[in-house]
Amino acid sequence: PTNLNALADEFLRLSYHGLRAKDKSFSADFETDLDPNLPLVNVVAQDIGRVILNLINNAFYACAELSRKSSENGASSYKPKVTVQTRLVELAGSLGGVEICVKDNGGGIPKSIKDKIFQPFFTTKPTGSGTGLGLSLSYDIVKSHGGDFRVKSNEGEGTEMIIFLPIEN
Ligand code: ADP
Ligand code: MG
Repeated sequence: PTNLNALADEFLRLSYHGLRAKDKSFSADFETDLDPNLPLVNVVAQDIGRVILNLINNAFYACAELSRKSSENGASSYKPKVTVQTRLVELAGSLGGVEICVKDNGGGIPKSIKDKIFQPFFTTKPTGSGTGLGLSLSYDIVKSHGGDFRVKSNEGEGTEMIIFLPIEN
């Protein structure tokens, strides 16, 4: 039984400070919005932790990229922000599952690549920055837990990655 709130909180900090250690000029706001009534969930904690970390790393990367572009264009008003949310989802009166949502206000995912991002080795990052395996691996892990993945993203508006994990009653 895993406390997903604790995982989300830990990996958000870890990811941010990891990025900052590599790039001192990067800064972003980050915040958690965690459901205090979230039950412990039976998952392979290491695997789901990896999924959460992948999503958070992608979110900060998107922010860092937009941040860099904005400052090149002299637009300094951009404030990068990553939010991790958890929520208990009830389905027809019973505990349905939990949702973990990782949201960023980075550049978003262009329509033209939306159906490719879960493919193994698909990446838009320069060589050395990404393997293109994060989302494909994450998808497999979530599916093997009987869960689901949802992507809400528009170019220019940022991205929301939502994973649903069922709870056995
Ligand atoms: P990688 O991070 O190594 O590129 P992923 O499988 O994690 O591989 O992601 C694949 C691609 O999906 C990324 O290269 C990027 O183009 C896109 N992507 C994923 N998450 C985001 C995000 N939060 N914002 C914008 N693009 C994203
Ligand atoms: Mg990635």
